[in-house]
Amino acid sequence: MMSMPIVSKMHLSEAERWQAVLERSTAAKDYFVYAVKTTGIYCRSNCPSKRPKRQNVVFYATAEEAEANGYRPCKRCRPNEIDRLQQLVAQVQHLLETQETEPSLSELAEAVGMSSYYVQRVFKRATVGVCSASAIC
Ligand SMILES: [Zn+2]
Repeated sequence: MMSMPIVSKMHLSEAERWQAVLERSTAAKDYFVYAVKTTGIYCRSNCPSKRPKRQNVVFYATAEEAEANGYRPCKRCRPNEIDRLQQLVAQVQHLLETQETEPSLSELAEAVGMSSYYVQRVFKRATVGVCSASAIC
C-alpha cells in the first residue's frame, strides 16, 4: 500500500481551519472537514457552497469522525469520496514522480487498474490548476 496519508502530519488550529474554510482552501482540504450544526452536513474546506456562520461550525479530522457524530457528507464536495480518490491520485502522482520517463495516460491507467478516462477525470479534478503531468492535463 501507499505510505500514510499526509493528513496526520498537519495540525491546524481552529482559527487556521476556519481561515481555510473562508478561503475555500484547496491546500487544506485533506487535513480536516467542517460540519455545520444547523444543516447536519459536513464539507471539505474547498467546498463551493455558501460559507456557514462561524458559531455553527465544528471541525473534525476525518470524514469518518464527522459521520460518527451524526453528520452527512455534502453532495457538492463529497468529502467522504475524496479519501478513496485521494488514494488513486496519490498512486498516480507517485508513478509520475518515480518513473524516469513520464508514463502515458494509458500506462498510468493500467498501473492503477482503472480506465484512462476515469484516471484523467479524477486526477484533473484533484489537481485543478496545478496539474503538471503532460500526459494527463
Ligand atoms: Zn460541501
